[in-house]
Amino acid sequence: MDMTVKHAQLYCSAIVAALFLNMVFLKNRPAEAGQLTAPVHNLSMEFAMQSSSLRANSRIELPAGVTLHLDLSSLNVSRIIINGQPAESGQTNNNYLDIASSQKDQEILVTYSKEIGPGSSPYNMISETGITLIDSWYPVADHEMLFKLTAHIPANFEAVSEADEIIAFLINNTKQVTFRFPYPLFSINFIAGPYVVSEEHFGEGKSLFAYFFPEDEELAPGYLVKAKKYLERYEEMLGPYPYSRFSIVENRLPTGFAMPTFTLLGQSVVRLPFIVDTSLGHEVLHAWFGNGVRMSPQEGNWVEGLTTYLADQSFAADEGRDSVYRKEQLVKYQSYVRPDMDLILRNFSNVDHGDSKGQPIRAVGYNKSSMFFHMLRHKVGPEVFTASLQDFFKRSRYTTAGWTDLQTSFETISGVNLAEFFSQWLDRNDVPNLAVQQPEITNTDGYPVLHFSIVQKNDKPYLLDVPLVIKTTADEIHKTFLVSESSSRFEIPLPSVPQTLVLDPGYDLMRELAPSELPPTWSRFQGAATKIAILSSENHRTLYRSLLQELEESEVRVLLQDEITDKDLAANSLLFLGTDGELSRSLFAQPDHPDPGFTVDVRNNPLNPLQVAVLVSASDAGQVEMAAGKLRHYGKYSYLSFKDGRLQDKNITETDTGIKIDLVKLPDGIETSSAQTFDAIIKKLLPYQVIYIGEGHTNHEDHQLQLEIARALYEHDPRLAIGMEMFTRPTQAVLDRYLAGELDEKSFLKESHYFKTWRFDYRLYRDIINFARHNKLPVIALNLEKNLVNQVFKAGGPNSLDDEERSLLPPDRKLDEPGYRERIETAYMMHAGQEQKGNFSGFLQAQALWDETMAEAIVEYLKAHPDERMMIIAGRGHVDKINAIPPRVARRLPVAQAVVVNSGGTPAETETADFIFFSPPSSLSPFPLLGVMLDDTEGAEGLLVTALSPEGQAIGAGIKEKDIILAIDSQPVNDMEDVKIEMLYKEKNGSVMVRVRRPTLFFNDRELDIEIPLKNAENPHHM
Ligand SMILES: [Zn+2]
Repeated sequence: MDMTVKHAQLYCSAIVAALFLNMVFLKNRPAEAGQLTAPVHNLSMEFAMQSSSLRANSRIELPAGVTLHLDLSSLNVSRIIINGQPAESGQTNNNYLDIASSQKDQEILVTYSKEIGPGSSPYNMISETGITLIDSWYPVADHEMLFKLTAHIPANFEAVSEADEIIAFLINNTKQVTFRFPYPLFSINFIAGPYVVSEEHFGEGKSLFAYFFPEDEELAPGYLVKAKKYLERYEEMLGPYPYSRFSIVENRLPTGFAMPTFTLLGQSVVRLPFIVDTSLGHEVLHAWFGNGVRMSPQEGNWVEGLTTYLADQSFAADEGRDSVYRKEQLVKYQSYVRPDMDLILRNFSNVDHGDSKGQPIRAVGYNKSSMFFHMLRHKVGPEVFTASLQDFFKRSRYTTAGWTDLQTSFETISGVNLAEFFSQWLDRNDVPNLAVQQPEITNTDGYPVLHFSIVQKNDKPYLLDVPLVIKTTADEIHKTFLVSESSSRFEIPLPSVPQTLVLDPGYDLMRELAPSELPPTWSRFQGAATKIAILSSENHRTLYRSLLQELEESEVRVLLQDEITDKDLAANSLLFLGTDGELSRSLFAQPDHPDPGFTVDVRNNPLNPLQVAVLVSASDAGQVEMAAGKLRHYGKYSYLSFKDGRLQDKNITETDTGIKIDLVKLPDGIETSSAQTFDAIIKKLLPYQVIYIGEGHTNHEDHQLQLEIARALYEHDPRLAIGMEMFTRPTQAVLDRYLAGELDEKSFLKESHYFKTWRFDYRLYRDIINFARHNKLPVIALNLEKNLVNQVFKAGGPNSLDDEERSLLPPDRKLDEPGYRERIETAYMMHAGQEQKGNFSGFLQAQALWDETMAEAIVEYLKAHPDERMMIIAGRGHVDKINAIPPRVARRLPVAQAVVVNSGGTPAETETADFIFFSPPSSLSPFPLLGVMLDDTEGAEGLLVTALSPEGQAIGAGIKEKDIILAIDSQPVNDMEDVKIEMLYKEKNGSVMVRVRRPTLFFNDRELDIEIPLKNAENPHHM
């Protein structure tokens, strides 16, 4: 479970907090106080359980030449005696006691009491059920000291403190416990309770204890077995455990601390089943790093990164999950840390586990730091890495050390100068942003040579060892490239064709993840710089109140859906509170969330791949309340589903592993023995109720195939309807009248505005429509009105439509079908001119509107006619079975669907279609043209000739610029549509008679009849 990671952090950050509080006093101290000059602090205390208080004597033996500053601020001091004399009033101000150094040894005696009121400190308690003293419970000094603690506790209690030896015996009805520890410490802690103590042995004569409460006694053996394994693991790796005993101590308070000689785990933590496999090992390792070697307060915190790497990361490696673990670290880092935060690893000291704004700091101090040690290990090799750590531990145990001491050990053992390595990772606020550019394959002697550049997009390049894998048709080639420039070009001769190149597939580099590697996760929403929560209605504010409270600190704007613009959608990470709102449905349709409970479903924002969109649903406010507080533990997930506050389901959306570049895709083929006849394929199509026949709109052979398949399907079963992309839904009535024989073709074309909306040569569709007309088959207009789509495209979204227009759109539109965005983006790049860029989110919305409208029209028809089969005629992009109309139909109605295309020779066909035909290319005779450019001004009589094609027929026949064409073969024409309709029938004529009005300078305009011989030309958009 994910809580592991969180708890691990909780422990360590709190430990370091305790250490650090005491260490800050040290800064002005001139030199390390050696063991010989350390003061001795004798503490003796007893408890009054009824009043939750302690009374104690503190006696400090201060060596000659040493000053002392004591903090008494949280104690009730009753007496201070210095060198046998009561303290003078100048020496104490109730809060602090300062003792000047003397040439003789000195003795300071403080008698005090302290009451631990309920809730007075999260770290202290005194009660019949247990005693925990962590926070300011004795006079805290500005020196490391040798502590000698004696405590009187109830007879049924056992006690733990920092100690290599604990001596206890009963006097009358109380127990006296004495602790001995031979190393100076800044602070000590004291824990006691009605423990059941069990013992184990490890290493050379060392003891391992479990202090568990009677009610958790049965957990102790499991903890002892695991702790022993960890102790032995780290003894073998790093050198002997630095003390003679280690204890696992259960605490009534919810802590997770590692102290010298013991770890203190809260009762609720101890009971979590996964702690023994995760956090326990991390805490054990702190006996070496954090306690055995403490961090030097001048140099920041290296402890947590190293401990995370050697414990958490390493446990993941034991299970073969280390690259997954490191990727999660990078995702977390990228979710929270931005360069403008200016977070530098060397500056990391500590972060309070309760600080919800501490995520970016944690991501640096734990995750980036752990990656630092991973890269260091790669740099020097695993043996040198371990040997260097052993050296470091040996040099620094029982004292403090910093990054420079680590660097010294690594440089000494490896013999490598690591100055630049340390400084680039510790002192920079960015991380490498890498890309592979300009991949190119040439051939030498018939063998491929791969060329590519590794580019660093950072202002200043890093010095990096970049791992790469080249997958060829024959095998995988692993290489590491040293890069130090902004762009480095490489050339690799290969024995076989390279198919993909993957940069850093094992996540061995601290770097920025490419969008294709970055899963949409809850942490990315939490860490997003710009984010909005969207309420579909005011009453959802109550339903989701606990979630909104949880998000209060993360600076999220909360808006009603009516307040959101198209621009907001594309510029932010989004949180949809409720999935039934219009806005949410316009991007993701209606997700399939479990009914009762609370679900968080994180997707990529389809309008902006750098942002995420979260779909949240809940059955009632109670479900939200029970789960909302837990979300912070599950930041790495993309999907979370809770019921009654318990996690039911979770997953992380799969993304690329490493930065992946596709190189060569060798062509697919079909074994000719498995090729089938047309009739055989038709038989295979019969079980499907919806059959799509994709087309290239101008490919005559595609339309021939459509006709042939329509005929064959009809012969097998006359219950057939044809759905067509080419007609918009409002033209259905015109289509129906034409099919019923109530309109002639010319009127049908005119009234359906075929040439205005679709434009392509009508002869491509004529046979199919007439086949339907002849056999009284319904033809269904599928498409959305063009001006609506245009408006959405231009405005960047449907925001600018009025209510009536918006009611024509299908409410459920799913923009994040797999691969949809990428496919549409490719099409956009190919078709859109430079000036249209930036409008991509409008383009995507428009494309989805088409596909969703057609899907909705198909489903409406099938629901009304469940016994019929539909054959769908649409462009190839719309029939893509992965992400175009077919999945959108399936979402609305479970029907058997098949996609048929003519092979265009592209490899994707085998994935996007079910049946591929190999029709020979064919073409229509060219459309008859006049050779004029016409101005189609609405309302004007006739059409103005704006230009003449120099090779066209009109110029030779005597048509001039500025002539107004009034009629063709006596049929009046007023717009382009009229001209196209008339010309449609002139194919076989040798010439047309065109009536023009020609303006003259001095007289009235003249009308002329000019005969134009027809020559066929290629461009169907000109006349
Ligand atoms: Zn830690």
